Amino acid sequence: MKIVPRNKSTEFEQWLCSIGGLINEYDNSIIMKRSYFSVGDGWLQIVKECIENLIKEGWDKRVEQVKEKFGDLRFYIANNYAIYGDIIQKSMIKASNTCELCGKHGRNQLVRKMLLQVICEECLDKKQNKEEQ
Ligand SMILES: [Zn+2]
Repeated sequence: MKIVPRNKSTEFEQWLCSIGGLINEYDNSIIMKRSYFSVGDGWLQIVKECIENLIKEGWDKRVEQVKEKFGDLRFYIANNYAIYGDIIQKSMIKASNTCELCGKHGRNQLVRKMLLQVICEECLDKKQNKEEQ
């Protein structure tokens, strides 16, 4: 019997479905797919914690965009940023020293020309070796 490894994306998606998804501010669709979140697997746990903390505070689950930009985690919500901003801020800070690829400790650095990413040394080596081949 072949054992399928549980990957972070699948786990995240299952969790997202289990909470009934989020609501897309633009078209009111329900977000159930991992692909909505334009971040690496290493940040999914941070995004998950952020969502859980927001919901605990009564967040309406309406989201505009979640992505990585210039090596920062961006989590845009439509309403009440004054109430939820602190939670989002904390997640951004956490992401700023978490490798976006593997979730270990990392730092924001230039992975190649014009591309900043929070990455650990191990993932950076792997990435650069791959590109050299
Ligand atoms: Zn890494």
